Amino acid sequence: MTNEVSAAYPEARVTPDNAPMLKRWREAGELVLQHCEGCGKAVFYPRPVCPHCWSDRLVWRPASGKGTVVSFSVIHRGLPAPFDAEAPIGLAEIALEEGISMIARVLVADGEELESGAGVALVGKADAARFPLPTFRIAR
Ligand SMILES: [Zn+2]
Repeated sequence: MTNEVSAAYPEARVTPDNAPMLKRWREAGELVLQHCEGCGKAVFYPRPVCPHCWSDRLVWRPASGKGTVVSFSVIHRGLPAPFDAEAPIGLAEIALEEGISMIARVLVADGEELESGAGVALVGKADAARFPLPTFRIAR
């Protein structure tokens, strides 16, 4: 797999709730997560009210960008353009260090294998601009 990316990705749908996360990703290649000032827990996906204690005192904080693959799928065919040209594509449930989990793409280089328990990290600022949503790579 080459992980080459075509230019015609669909854009993520921006809402008032997710705009800060998408902006930070696009501009800095960083993942920010909502944290609740009421109960202290991290919250994902972005929303106006904490799902644990119903507080609306949610603030954005940088995340480590590191996590562990819980489960994954590698998609080889049947993908719409432009993703079909990039198959196989890895999608994983990632348990982030902040205690939340998210589904995200994981780039898998030649010779690497996606597996449960694998450590992952964000792709980094240089590559972030290529992807409309936070994207990970296998951490070495
Ligand atoms: Zn809370």
